[in-house]
Amino acid sequence: MNKRKEKTWLTIDKRPIVIAGPCSAESEKQVLETAQRLKATDRVDILRAGIWKPRTRPNSFEGVGMVGLPWMVKAKELTGFPITVEVAKASHVESCLQFGIDILWIGARTTVNPFAVQEIADALKGVEIPVLVKNPINPDLSLWLGGIERLEKAGIKEVGAIHRGFSNLGEKFYRNRPQWQIPLEFRRHRPDIPMINDPSHICGRRDILQQVGQKAMDLDFDGLMIESHIDPDNAWSDAKQQITPEVLGTMIRDMELREDYEDVQPLQSKLEYLRQEINHIDDELMNLLSNRMNIARQIGKYKKDNNMTILQIKRWNQIIEKSINHANENKLSKEFVMKFIAAIHDESINQQEKIFREND
Ligand code: PEP
Ligand code: MN
Repeated sequence: MNKRKEKTWLTIDKRPIVIAGPCSAESEKQVLETAQRLKATDRVDILRAGIWKPRTRPNSFEGVGMVGLPWMVKAKELTGFPITVEVAKASHVESCLQFGIDILWIGARTTVNPFAVQEIADALKGVEIPVLVKNPINPDLSLWLGGIERLEKAGIKEVGAIHRGFSNLGEKFYRNRPQWQIPLEFRRHRPDIPMINDPSHICGRRDILQQVGQKAMDLDFDGLMIESHIDPDNAWSDAKQQITPEVLGTMIRDMELREDYEDVQPLQSKLEYLRQEINHIDDELMNLLSNRMNIARQIGKYKKDNNMTILQIKRWNQIIEKSINHANENKLSKEFVMKFIAAIHDESINQQEKIFREND
């Protein structure tokens, strides 16, 4: 049994576990109708709603506040859904505990701030409640892990992580760039913690929700948190990314769920074969890189002896151009090739700098 599934808030032995509900609770009617229509899809496990909204700019809707909590409780009575609400400070925690909210979550703008997370952790001392921690808005794995550790140190046993993407200047396709390597690295450190993907805040728009959610499933995430509104276009917050309960139901139904098939032999051996090939290629890459650095060091020595600068911008531009052409011809994304070649070039410069600093 997968270690992550031993967490009791995930004992519903189902993948994906689906957390759904509006970005914000707006009225009692909206919360109850959303909950009932989500229930009718038979694909949702936990109801979410924002009560206090951490908005990027002031003067936008900042949540209904405490009055929304009894609406959530009513929705739970009506549908049987466990309910989850975002908390950003101790007073939010106290109100949620008072109303019997089942699961708390910490938002991306709170995870960035260790003072705020610590305040929440302190308010939770001696309380048994599951807490889900969204990734911080900046791509900092330690901050995310650290947030979870603060809760664990306060005695919280049931934790989960939510991957909602990272803000990035100039990003146009996503609202928050997914940077999948970060949640994957998180799981390498903490394979015991369930990982939920939040395609709504990654995408910021409806048309690519399905493909991002599907990718999370293919990467063996445990669940999805998706925003759903009875009248998405008129939602008071995050209107562009919300979908109706019915659309959400179809989306989940259409997801392809592949298992990790750890104990199915024929599938494993084919996979094993492909992995061996990858291993060989990785070995070759390492050898090639090492050869390349060897030559870079020789060039470094030559430049030093002849009093030349390390970086020669014309040459660097040629390398970039050549690599981009290569990317276009070989089904590699330009973004990846640029990052790859920049990392190699960076290391070459470091190696040459070392040669420059060496005494003859
Ligand atoms: C939300 O879930 O509505 C929310 C505010 O998300 P995030 O913290 O990911 O921005
Ligand atoms: Mn939202």
